[in-house]
Order: sequence, then structure tokens, then C-alpha cells
Amino acid sequence: MENFVVSARKYRPQHFSTVVGQSHITTTLKNAILQQHLAHAFLFCGPRGVGKTTCARILAKTINCENLGKDGEACDTCNSCQSFNNGASFNIHELDAASNNSVDDIRDLIEQVRFAPQAGKYKIYIIDEVHMLSSNAFNAFLKTLEEPPAHAIFILATTEKHKILPTILSRCQIFDFKRITPADIATHLEEIATKENIQAEPTALHVIAQKSDGCMRDALSILDKIVSFTNANLTYSNTLEHLNLLDEDYFFKLLDLLDSEDLPGVLTIYDEIDKKGFDGDMVLNNLSEFFRNLLVSRDPRSISLLQVVEGFRNRYITAAASISPAYMIGALNILNEAEIGFKQARNKKLHVEFHLIKLTHLKQAVTLVEDDSAIKKKRVDEIKPVAFRQITFAPQKTKPSAKLVIDNPRPPVQAKEPPPDLTAPPEKPLARSIASPSQAPAETVSGGLGSLKKIREQIQNRKQEHVEVFTLNEERLDTAWAAYLQKLQENNQVTSLSNLKMAKVTIIDELVFEIMAETSIQQQFIESEKVGLLIHVQDFFNNPKVQFMVQLNPSANLEEVVKDQPLSLREQYFKMIERYPIIKEMRDQLNLDLDY
Ligand SMILES: [Zn+2]
Repeated sequence: MENFVVSARKYRPQHFSTVVGQSHITTTLKNAILQQHLAHAFLFCGPRGVGKTTCARILAKTINCENLGKDGEACDTCNSCQSFNNGASFNIHELDAASNNSVDDIRDLIEQVRFAPQAGKYKIYIIDEVHMLSSNAFNAFLKTLEEPPAHAIFILATTEKHKILPTILSRCQIFDFKRITPADIATHLEEIATKENIQAEPTALHVIAQKSDGCMRDALSILDKIVSFTNANLTYSNTLEHLNLLDEDYFFKLLDLLDSEDLPGVLTIYDEIDKKGFDGDMVLNNLSEFFRNLLVSRDPRSISLLQVVEGFRNRYITAAASISPAYMIGALNILNEAEIGFKQARNKKLHVEFHLIKLTHLKQAVTLVEDDSAIKKKRVDEIKPVAFRQITFAPQKTKPSAKLVIDNPRPPVQAKEPPPDLTAPPEKPLARSIASPSQAPAETVSGGLGSLKKIREQIQNRKQEHVEVFTLNEERLDTAWAAYLQKLQENNQVTSLSNLKMAKVTIIDELVFEIMAETSIQQQFIESEKVGLLIHVQDFFNNPKVQFMVQLNPSANLEEVVKDQPLSLREQYFKMIERYPIIKEMRDQLNLDLDY
């Protein structure tokens, strides 16, 4: 029986010209050899499996070649080349620093370095994984590395350049090996497939190239495995099956179903994927990647970032052209949320389904708004600027509180407002505030929950209106406040309502207002309402920069201090934020939960 040699060894390049994807290095090395300007120490850095050791071996063979070609390549026929090719040369020493990292190992090496080669010009010492050397070993090595005998050349190889001491770095000529591109790997695999009489669909080889993540050695070992698994007949589908990868076709199908808001279709296709044994988090992750790829393929400038199997490229570009970026970003947002929550979810499948449902309705949620040229702009409720608002350094309260007079204001402009929460999860305060009619202008307040149709009509009507961003003024703030109170009342949130009713509202500057609570309990209730209130107010003013802070009335606060009791953690927190409002801002911005 013929000995099987793995492709990674069988097709290990023997010349600089056959090294894949590192031409910037091989050209430099060849020139250095031809001009006899060879350094005495090299450091080859780069990810694993990209050709560091291979290049080191080729370099060793080439500089010892007796009939060096004019192109700087070894002849492969002289005695030296032959002994290198047979692995019998005495002029090459490889030390794996991962397993030989002690001072004694290095001393042995230094001892050997002293002796000149019996045949050939150079002795080459390749130290692999050099970052694994102990620091004592490094130090023992320094002297030799600095002034090696003329016949010695060191090639240090590492995957972790940052772990190499600066004293070593400064003594070496450094070459950075690049990750090999999937296209280069695929081409190389094709060459091998042809030589080995392997039937392989190009897409199958591209999948392997993608999966190997720039590492040729991995690509070749995957190829070997699938060749034996499929009896040298690689197709796209059996390669996917072997690598446990999900067919991208599913995502295109899913995208079509999402586009037509076909919920049963979406759930059925996920069920199909699930039955094939793919984990939910992997599906979510792949789907995120899919949307990411769609997003980058929209623009010629970012299309180089599209890393997909060659055959799918055009499909991505075509699909991306018909989807709005807002939708894609919204989808990415939902998927990111889904991935974060996946670990905690008790029912994994339900968790994925729930987010797929959100995705299905995302389109509806983002549709609508503007404009005259009949191009529908979409916006995503998920990417409300709430999460990205600026930190406002609110001044300490100086103005006296004033009870504001409620007047009959203009109806608020709500062009930015998305339709009701058909899609948003019920627990979201955002959804609550949107769904409530009290936020809508006065004429619809009495109309109960507005249907989607109704809101669409309203938005249609408002198309002509100028969309204005408001800053704080008393009249408008009062209306917003009253509308919020009414909403609380309609939702039977009696406690929050009474606490907010008691509070005093003061405008501090054009973007910040203050809510003054009389007791810390009242303050806590207002705090619990904060998110909903903030979204409500920002929507009302159509201005995401509008902020407020909840303060405790200083006089009320004094009484608490007089009590002279040790403060609970919660009280400590409130005292702290009262004194340093920035802490609260930070907490809100970073969305931190506090453990009192
Ligand atoms: Zn030769």
C-alpha cells in the first residue's frame, strides 16, 4: 500500500516562487540573496500556517545552493539541494522553542553554532515559537544573536511578536507574514485538486478557503479530510456537510421571506435549519454575518470587505441593492441583542424564534415617513438615538422651582415616530410610549389606541409639514408633561402618576430640565419611570438631546441627614449622584444595573 503523505507536506513549497500569498517577503529575500546582503538574524512573524517555517527552509536551501539561479531560486539538482530535499542536510537545525525553552537547550544550540559547516556555506538555525523561550534563555541567546559566526544564520519564527523582547527585535531583520487571502488559498487548492485528480466544485474549494481563515495548513488538512470522506468528489453541499456549515442559500431564502413579512415561512425555514442540528447561536451568528456582508456589499468602497464564497458574491450585491441600510442595521441590532441574550435564554429555540419574529416585523416598523420624491425612507425604532445621546454636564440647580402653567399648545410634530409596537417586545418602555395615544396630538387623544392605518394616515398628512426640532420651552414641556401623566393614568400606573404629579419641573437650559422630588421615595419612583419619560419627552420635542435629571429637594434632604443614621447602599448612591450628577449620567449612558 502506498504511503499517504498529507497534502500540507506533499505540497510544501520548495521554491520562493511557489510560496502562496507572501510575495512581499519572498521577493525581498531573493533580492537579499542575489545581492549577498543577507542579515544574520531574521524574525518571521505572522499567524500560524502561513508559510514561516516553509520560507525559512527555502531560505536555508537557497543560500546553500551551489548553482544559484539568476532569479534567486535554488537549482534543486546540486548535492546541497538534494540533501535538503531529502531532509538529510546537516546545515539546517530546527529547534522548537515551545518544548526546548530552557537555558540549557539554548546553551547546547550556542555550542553547535561555533562549528563551521563541513559542506556548504551556511548553517541555518530555525527557532520556532521563539516567544516560548524563558527570559533566561533569551538572555543567554542575546550575545550569540548579536555577533554570530559568519557561517551562522538564525531564523526566529513566532506567532506572537509582541512577546519578543525588544533586545531581540532590534537584532533581527523582521518579516511580517500576512494571513493568506481566501482567493489565494482557493487557487492553490484548485492546483492541488488538478494534480491529484480530485473532482472539486470551485465553490467547495472556496468554502474550505473561507473556513481555514488564512491558514494554508488548515486548508490543506481540511481538503485531505473531505477528499477521503467524499471519495475525491467534492461538491458544495458535501463540503458544507462535512464542515458543519450552514448553506448560505438558506439566508437568501430567509431574506426573501423577511422581505415579504412571511412569518410562517420564516419560522418553517428556521425549523428546517434547527432539524439539521445547527445550534441556535450559530444560526444567529451566521445570520449576523450575512447582514454584515450585505451591508458592506452596498458600497463599492467597502465591497472588498465582503468575504464570501466567490459564487455568492453577485448574489450579495444584488440582494443588498434592494434593502435599505436602516433595515440591515436594525436587523444587526436585533441579532446582536439575540446573541447576547442567548446564553441566558432557557428555551434556546424559542429565543431564536422570538428574534426572528422581530426581524419579520422590522420592515413594517421601519417603513414610512417622508418624502416628496416618493422614495420611502425607513427608520428603525431599534436604533433610536436614545442610546447614543451626549452626556450633558448639567449645572447644579440654581433657579428656583416654578410651577408651570399649562396652555393649549400646538400639536407636536411626530414625524420621527414609528408606528405602533407590532414588533417591539412588550416589556420595552419605548414600545409603551409609542403605543399610547396620549402622545399623539390632541385630536387623537380621545381616539383610543390608534391603529397602524390611522397612524400611517397621520404621517401621510404630516408629510407636507416641516419637521422641526424643538428645544425646551415651558409651554411645550408642560404639554409633554401633561400628556405623559395622562398616559400613566390611562395605563393605571397610579403610583408613578401621583409621584410625578407632586414633582416640580424646572427648565435649566434649552436641552436640560430638572424634576424635583420631595422625598427620596418619590425620587425613586420617578427614577423608575425615567426611560419611558425620556423617550416620551425626546419624541415630543423631536430632539434626542433633550435630557432631564431627577433631583431631591435639598431641604427634604437635610432632614434625612439630621436623622444621622448610617446610610443604606441605595441612599449612598443617591447622595453620591446628587453631589456628582455625572455618576448618574455615566450609569445611564452605560446602562448599568446597580446592586444595592
Ligand atoms: Zn542547488
